[in-house]
Amino acid sequence: ERMVSAEVQQEEESLENQLRPQFLTQYIGQEKVKNNLKVFIEAAKIRNEALDHVLLYGPPGLGKTTLATIIAHEMNVQIRTTSGPAIERPGDLAAILTALEPGDVLFIDEIHRLNRVVEEVLYPAMEDFCLDIVIGKGPTARSVRLDLPPFTLVGATTRAGLLSSPLRDRFGVLSRLEYYTNDELRNIVTRTAEVYQVEIEDQASIEIARRSRGTPRIANRLLRRVRDFAQVKGTGTIDVELAVNALERLQVDPLGLDHIDHKLLKGIIDKFRGGPVGLDTIAATIGEESHTIEDVYEPYLLQIGFLQRTPRGRMVTYKVYEHFKMEVPE
Ligand code: ADP
Repeated sequence: ERMVSAEVQQEEESLENQLRPQFLTQYIGQEKVKNNLKVFIEAAKIRNEALDHVLLYGPPGLGKTTLATIIAHEMNVQIRTTSGPAIERPGDLAAILTALEPGDVLFIDEIHRLNRVVEEVLYPAMEDFCLDIVIGKGPTARSVRLDLPPFTLVGATTRAGLLSSPLRDRFGVLSRLEYYTNDELRNIVTRTAEVYQVEIEDQASIEIARRSRGTPRIANRLLRRVRDFAQVKGTGTIDVELAVNALERLQVDPLGLDHIDHKLLKGIIDKFRGGPVGLDTIAATIGEESHTIEDVYEPYLLQIGFLQRTPRGRMVTYKVYEHFKMEVPE
């Protein structure tokens, strides 16, 4: 389910783009982040300046890309989107920066994956809106300073700690996105159902919200799958019975945990007596990358108290045994 091919990923991205709210008022939840941004955006507009650079961090699917597009909308400017790994050389970055219009938003997803050389070109660009580029080679090489239009860099990353401190320090606004509450997710499901023009009972929205791991991307994805069942099996309306049936067939359990979470938790119990066990060892046993576990799977399990981090590694808690109806060991 989560290990999707590039093609599926692209399709999903275009589905997501249809759903992105355009303005802050349509962006559900994240009240603290939203209220701060509202003030900064208004102030920048009054001063007729570009908004200060913004770093958004938090687990995948919580709305960082969406917020970047909203910032551009609210500022009445264009957004250019790229990602850390896509910018290979300083020249790539220079081409992007010199093409910006005054005030534009440059969104760099996975900004922690910028390479060092590119990152160093970014510092003066962020700070003084200029580029130092070297022309020529050897003894005739000379450095030229190029002025850039003022712009707003919006960077996104799963964890702020992954950024080098000189880069982190150059952001004026650091905002951490939190997992959504079930109420907020229910509202997101209801809104998405409206966009898709599909009838859904409130109890069914609640059921989908509860199994979405605090994450809007998952809520929208589950709704799409449940909608498929409704169209094929039912009357087209999503009621709670249909939703629960569909979710069970999708192997999403009542807490929203899927087969990878199960594999991870059961792996720690079966092979390591519940832990503690190192991240790399877990990764090797279940065949996932350590950083994927750390960025994607683990944060929610920590949040709901299923996993604990100890100096000697990860441990499952009694809640996991209870969830799987297993006997809690001494
Ligand atoms: P990220 O960039 O953090 O991985 P995205 O911005 O791509 O997450 O969000 C994933 C999906 O969730 C998008 O389709 C978006 O429509 C939806 N979404 C995210 N946050 C919200 C929100 N606060 N309100 C409504 N929909 C949201």
